[in-house]
Amino acid sequence: MAKQSNLHCSFCGRSRDEVKILIAGQEGHICENCVEHAQEIIVQELQQRQEQQNSQYRFNIRKPLEIKDFLDQYVIGQDDAKKILSVAVYNHYKRITQKLQNDDVEIEKSNIIMVGETGTGKTLLAKTIAKLLNVPFAIVDATVFTEAGYVGEDVESMLTRLLQVCNYDIAAAEKGIVYVDEIDKIARKGDNPSITRDVSGEGVQQGLLKMLEGTEVLVPPQGGRKHPEQKMIKINTSNILFICGGAFDGIDKVIARRVNTNAIGFNVNKSEQELQKKNMLQFINATDLKSFGLIPELLGRLPVVTHLDPLDTETLRSILTVPKNSLIKQYNRLFDIEGIQLKIDESVYNFMVQKAIEFKLGARGLRSICEHILTDAMFELPGSGVKELHVTLDYAEKKLNKSKLSMLKVA
Ligand code: ADP
Repeated sequence: MAKQSNLHCSFCGRSRDEVKILIAGQEGHICENCVEHAQEIIVQELQQRQEQQNSQYRFNIRKPLEIKDFLDQYVIGQDDAKKILSVAVYNHYKRITQKLQNDDVEIEKSNIIMVGETGTGKTLLAKTIAKLLNVPFAIVDATVFTEAGYVGEDVESMLTRLLQVCNYDIAAAEKGIVYVDEIDKIARKGDNPSITRDVSGEGVQQGLLKMLEGTEVLVPPQGGRKHPEQKMIKINTSNILFICGGAFDGIDKVIARRVNTNAIGFNVNKSEQELQKKNMLQFINATDLKSFGLIPELLGRLPVVTHLDPLDTETLRSILTVPKNSLIKQYNRLFDIEGIQLKIDESVYNFMVQKAIEFKLGARGLRSICEHILTDAMFELPGSGVKELHVTLDYAEKKLNKSKLSMLKVA
């Protein structure tokens, strides 16, 4: 029989004399230190696996046609933008998931810029794409950023938003999507005479450019201004997709000047001219954005330019009821939960659309119009025993007329 002192831990090699406890197995022994160490490894490993399982963010990479189909369920019209976005997003995710090949072909990032009147669905498109792909998504407003030295937020703090939405899951944030709204408001002074804007617009564009290029950025975890004592989080932006959007008020004139000097005015084919003038945005390209005051370097990093069409009566009508989570479907659900059946006449829908156009509120206005028509009912009916609400044109007109919204009426 082997002498006790000859025994040793099969894992760390310590002899019986060097450890307190030596547990015998079929083929060998393990000491208390190695058991503790193994226990730590097990806890860590299980935790990591759990985190991976729990992470809300597992990529759903979809083909462009599937992306477009999905967008169709939530966004009405805007076919050009949907198609361009679908391809750009697909290529972006192909780029970041591709296995490193042994050649020099490096697919460049395809950040996107969307131009269209406010309330036409720019944010909705970006949000819907993020939902489909299951990636962290943050909306930031370009107007809150100022160049260092001015009052306002550092451009880097837009990544703080991204970190916050994914609970500081850095790996997920580094593959997320940032939607930068109101990019037109940081256009450079001088080139565009039609609007006033932030004095430091160009500085902000430079800051944004750095991030779009793909670098390691130190991000203040709570946002705001960077200060020396603050602990920073390092984020690599090379795989973050930036989608920028803006109304670019007045850019139609810039486009018209470039595309066809005849477009504003004169005799040839008037009806067609009218039609084109209505939606000059369809001809937009980077040159127009440069004339508007975006710096060429920034435009170089936003290679995909697309436009959104203005919303006509028919589109607004569809927006009310057709999308998967349309406004009316949402109100139906709210009443349904109370056991009340909501019945709305077709004439009411037309009335809502007409008012949205009249108040110049576009699709965004539809929501406030619905709220004003239905708030009284949502206040009074729960618990009243009423089982049905029938909204007639007369009911809708009365409710809207007594609301403050009706004061918005424009001549
Ligand atoms: P933008 O970012 O262009 O200013 P949004 O995407 O925020 O406009 O649109 C505001 C709201 O109007 C959306 O939440 C949505 O309810 C509605 N909306 C706008 N355009 C559309 C559209 N094309 N299809 C469906 N809903 C739309």
